[in-house]
Amino acid sequence: MAAAEPADTIAAIATAAGAGGIGVVRVSGPASALIADAVLGDCPAARHAAYLGFKDADGSLIDRGIAIYYPGPNSYTGEDVLELQAHGGPALMQILLARCLSLGARQAEPGEFTRRAYLNDKLDLAQAEAVADVINAATAEAARSAVRSLSGEFSQRVQVLLNSLIRLRLYVEACLDFPEEDIDFITQGGVRAKLEEVSVALQRLHASARQGNLLREGIRVVLVGQPNVGKSSLMNRLAGEEVAIVTPIAGTTRDTISSLIQIEGVPLHVIDTAGLRDTADEVEQMGIERTWRALETANAAILLVDAQHGITGVEAAILARLPADLPRVWLHNKIDLSAEQPRSELRDQETHLFVSAKHGDGIELLRQHLLQLAGWQPSGEGVFMARARHLQALSVVDTHLQYALDQLQYPELLAEELRLAQDALSSITGEFTPDDLLGEIFSRFCIGK
Ligand code: GDP
Ligand code: ZN
Repeated sequence: MAAAEPADTIAAIATAAGAGGIGVVRVSGPASALIADAVLGDCPAARHAAYLGFKDADGSLIDRGIAIYYPGPNSYTGEDVLELQAHGGPALMQILLARCLSLGARQAEPGEFTRRAYLNDKLDLAQAEAVADVINAATAEAARSAVRSLSGEFSQRVQVLLNSLIRLRLYVEACLDFPEEDIDFITQGGVRAKLEEVSVALQRLHASARQGNLLREGIRVVLVGQPNVGKSSLMNRLAGEEVAIVTPIAGTTRDTISSLIQIEGVPLHVIDTAGLRDTADEVEQMGIERTWRALETANAAILLVDAQHGITGVEAAILARLPADLPRVWLHNKIDLSAEQPRSELRDQETHLFVSAKHGDGIELLRQHLLQLAGWQPSGEGVFMARARHLQALSVVDTHLQYALDQLQYPELLAEELRLAQDALSSITGEFTPDDLLGEIFSRFCIGK
């Protein structure tokens, strides 16, 4: 995909903001070797760690640390790269960065290192996106799946499908050169069978990508119910030891009452809400308003009921206000007080679970039910991470394959549908990706990546 980029030199602090044992300033571009000479007194041997003094313009010592020089194309970006590992104090990092900037580098934009890696064919677009997803993964399973995408598992499956699609398309286009024999060619070549085969493979890929997307996005579950029914206790119970790793992901606003937990590696944003009841208290009313707003963006609701009283008029009123298509589960809590056993019941197509948040009885039933509500299907095989953008592209491919199946007797239209399917599929790995989309993808990285 290599597109010519203005070959300037960029630099940034590559490690997280704040104090750390080690901090890394990364430099990429043609001036890297010159900057190494100036800061280190000499450019270290290619790809060898060298313990050296890092010198400021006046010759004074900034720090002593490890320098590694990677001449292009064998580097992260494909360009000449210099990595300076110093002590990770923010003030020290700033001095070291300023020194590199004074030697002709400019401050890198967010995601610019990875963007250059992509432009220099070190990574395809799905892999480049996976770099950000590895960094921002909320659970261990999400991190593993992002690494699988980064190492190319997703891209390879896209590529296999793409190859079948291209072979089919070449065959159909070859038929176009012999118009009088069109129909024969199409039937003899078994185009329908091949097309159906591609379509089945696409469905499989789409299903895996949906699972991967679930690991990336997680699900938002809102706890609703009257005050004192046990919402906060349930939140704590669910969190237990399964608290996920919360990372600051650009663009996500975090609700103060939301907590990120995980069930079998699927991130779950559990939103504890103000108890819903009629009240004259202004602060409480504001909390209740927030509850209704949280429900608008939720993927599922847990409706808590006190098992001692069962469903009352209050719960019926809450139910009436819930978005009609919001998946939900009734949770009868405090069964220790009503002397019931943990269980799951289906009433009028709705699931009712009987649990004790305080003692933990029945919580495993709830966890499994939440995974089911989320659409999580443990496949046993490793999941790769996928983004909404990928799911959308796969839907477009699917649409064109279905159209293609309807156009078997019109080879020109068939060829056109196959071409559109191919374009949509290759947008995942970035062969046909408009510049503005690239800008959008890389601007969501943090600086230094
Ligand atoms: P919230 O107002 O809905 O958030 O309810 P809380 O979680 O604050 O719980 C209200 C009270 O009910 C507390 O005293 C809890 O200890 C108690 N509680 C919550 N769940 C259970 C349960 O399963 N069994 C019993 N016996 N008490 C519970
Ligand atoms: Zn509460």
